[in-house]
Formats: sequence, C-alpha cells, structure tokens
Amino acid sequence: MTLKSKTALITGSTSGIGLAIARALAAEGCDVAINGLGDAADIEKERAGIAADFGVKAIYAAADMTKPAEIAAMIAQTERELGSLDILVNNAGIQFVSPVEEFPIDKWDAIIAINMSAAFHAMRAAVPGMKQRGWGRIISTGSAHSLVASPFKAAYVAAKHGVAGLTKTVALEVATHGVTVNLISPGYVWTPLVEKQIPDTMKARNLTREQVINDVLLTAQPTHEFVKPEEVAALVVFLCSDAAKQITGANLSMDGGWTAA
Ligand code: NAD
Repeated sequence: MTLKSKTALITGSTSGIGLAIARALAAEGCDVAINGLGDAADIEKERAGIAADFGVKAIYAAADMTKPAEIAAMIAQTERELGSLDILVNNAGIQFVSPVEEFPIDKWDAIIAINMSAAFHAMRAAVPGMKQRGWGRIISTGSAHSLVASPFKAAYVAAKHGVAGLTKTVALEVATHGVTVNLISPGYVWTPLVEKQIPDTMKARNLTREQVINDVLLTAQPTHEFVKPEEVAALVVFLCSDAAKQITGANLSMDGGWTAA
C-alpha cells in the first residue's frame, strides 16, 4: 500500500486501460475519482466495486472531455471531495480510421479535443494544487502513435504527438516543485477501442478481421502479443512511487518493441 493518503483522478476510466489504472492505484491505497462515458448503473457498479475491493474512497466525476469548463469542474470536484488531487492520469481517448481526404471534420475535432486538448485543460487546472503541496504526478496515456505514424489515423497520430510535446513542456515548468509529468506509450492493447477500429480498418485496407488482427495490429509488435491493461497500470503505479521521482518529461514505450524497429 504505497499510495495510502494519496488521491488520483483517472480520465476515461469506465473502460479498458483507464479502469485497470484506477483499480491498480486503489490497490495501493489511493483514493480515486473515476471519469468516463457509459451506462450510469454500470459506472456506479464499478465505483462501488473499487471502494469495496480496496477499502478506499472512490467517487465518480462526470465530465465530457470535449468541454473545457466541465474538465475544470471535474478537477475542482475531485479536490473538494477527495481533499486534494495528487495524481492526474489523462487517459480518455477515442479513435477513428479513415483516409485523410475522407476524414470527417467532426471526428478530427473530437479526437483533437479528447485525446490532446483535454490533457492541457486538466493539467492547467491540476497543476496549481500540486505546486502548492510540493508533490504531484501527471501521467498521460500516449501511444506508439506519439512516436510513429500509421496510415489512416491522421487525427489520432497528430493528437498523440501533441500530448508528447505537452508532456515535455509541462515537465520543465514544474520540475522544481516535486511534480513529474510523463507519457506512457503502449502499442496495441486489447480493449474496446481496438476492437471498434477493426471493421473500419477492414474497409480501409480491404482485409478480413483475422488479417487485421494478425497482419496489421500484431505485426507491428515484434513480440506478436497485445499489451495488457494491467501492464500499463503497473507502470503508472511505479511512476507514482518515490523511486520514480527523477523520471520526468519521459515518453516511456510499452509496445512489444514496435518503435525499436
Ligand atoms: P476504451 O475505449 O476502452 O476507453 C476509453 C475511455 O475514454 C472510456 O472510459 C470512455 O468512456 C472515455 N471517453 C471517451 N470519450 C470521452 C469523452 N468525451 N468524455 C469522457 N470520457 C470519454 O479505450 P482504451 O483502449 O482503454 O484507451 C484508453 C487510452 O489509451 C486512450 O487515450 C487511447 O488512445 C490509449 N491507447 C490505447 C491503445 C490500445 O491499443 N487500446 C494503445 C495505445 C494507447
């Protein structure tokens, strides 16, 4: 229980990687605020489950990550209800796959807002409290696509490269305040986000489902294995530890060797 008395907000934690991160932080004794879209009853079940399984305080902070005012209100709610915000995990994200000339403008705007600008708005609101307390951890879920591109993912690749730059900038600004800012960049993790892009990738590349999984997704990763949400969560927990306090401004790949090639 290394994070007892700490508090965390994990955006996009009603599913996939974010949910694994919320549970891993709670397992270390951290009080958590979860956020994300979904059925109200399912979200309440998840919130209550975290509280019961780990004996921590768990709240739900509703905010649509496309809305800057809702993001600021979510940070304020977390600080008010949990007493502080020590760990911010910017994780909410969506994907859309299409050739650039057909890329719907509303999808571009939504991906830039949720996958990139939301991290700025959350950091902007969370940094003052962290500086005041002299301790903080800001971790964003990047992607191998923060370092390299794949065709048909113009908005996603642009947004993830943007968060990589934002991470480095804010890390420099808060370096003397006990606050670290890092990006974790996974390869393909088997979550609803990956599952949902398979039909569009089949269409864009004229492939079968099996071909997309084996010849597009897993072929990118030399280990030929998906990353597990729990593996990303374990790195988040490590970055929150005192042993990791000199790791800041880093983009940590967890991609089965993808970006080594
Ligand atoms: P997911 O679809 O399982 O979860 C996405 C979460 O974001 C959900 O909780 C969803 O409700 C939330 N969300 C989406 N739009 C939102 C909005 N407007 N407001 C609030 N919440 C919103 O996907 P995941 O795979 O767990 O993805 C989580 C993060 O990991 C994303 O940033 C994604 O880009 C990144 N990532 C995923 C993979 C992968 O292969 N799955 C790889 C690298 C990076």
